[in-house]
Amino acid sequence: MTDKKIIVAVDGYSSCGKSSMARALAKNIGYIYVDTGAMYRGVTLFALREGLITPAGEILEAELESRLSSLSLTFATQEGYDVPVLHLDGVCVEQDIRSMQVASHVSPIAALPFVREFLTRQQQALGRAKGIVMDGRDIGTAVFPEAEMKVFVTADPRVRAERRLAELRAKGNGEISLEDVLQNLQERDYIDTHRPVAPLRQAEDAVVLDNSHVSIAEQDLMLRFAFEAVLAHLRGSQRG
Ligand code: C5P
Repeated sequence: MTDKKIIVAVDGYSSCGKSSMARALAKNIGYIYVDTGAMYRGVTLFALREGLITPAGEILEAELESRLSSLSLTFATQEGYDVPVLHLDGVCVEQDIRSMQVASHVSPIAALPFVREFLTRQQQALGRAKGIVMDGRDIGTAVFPEAEMKVFVTADPRVRAERRLAELRAKGNGEISLEDVLQNLQERDYIDTHRPVAPLRQAEDAVVLDNSHVSIAEQDLMLRFAFEAVLAHLRGSQRG
């Protein structure tokens, strides 16, 4: 019997290593990987470029809402990247969406109900055929509450900030301090867990993984075991 494909939902706090874990799992099991944070960052980049966020941080919501439907966000292959990356209106924006400027505006944008509705619909369409690992904040609770495997990832905020800082520095952002990064992570976590629509929270049926003190190899192994356990359980319940 060939195993049926499932949906793997990976949710958790900012910069706790969930994207790398989810990406590695998808590669190992031959599933499609979708980074939903990139989609929220893509909308934020668009809003910034189009002047829909004022210098004081105010979002011109009515205009953003009316222009959203014509916005094209796709994942496509790009030279230099080993997984498909976000394209905004056909142009690769992978590097631009990772800036601190985008990071500091993305959570208020992601709290807007019409933005969530727009992106949730696209995410559900991407997962219709299953065989997908999707990472974000609300995948196991709002996008795919019926996902067969749910993982909730967490890690100590300082460990997360140090990892994020190393990533940013590796990309040439030498001027950013650990305190700036830590503050941004904590602000995003606060907004993400307190918004009225689809807040970040652990689904009741999620497996919790604390990433503070485990190596990447150990994370990969744990996820792989969890995936095999879910499949074995599904096979058992099909037989029974
Ligand atoms: O995962 P990443 O840190 O790139 O996500 C950026 C931001 O996008 C998060 O801080 C959160 O505000 C928002 N987001 C969300 N729902 C998702 C994925 C990301 O609200 N499913």
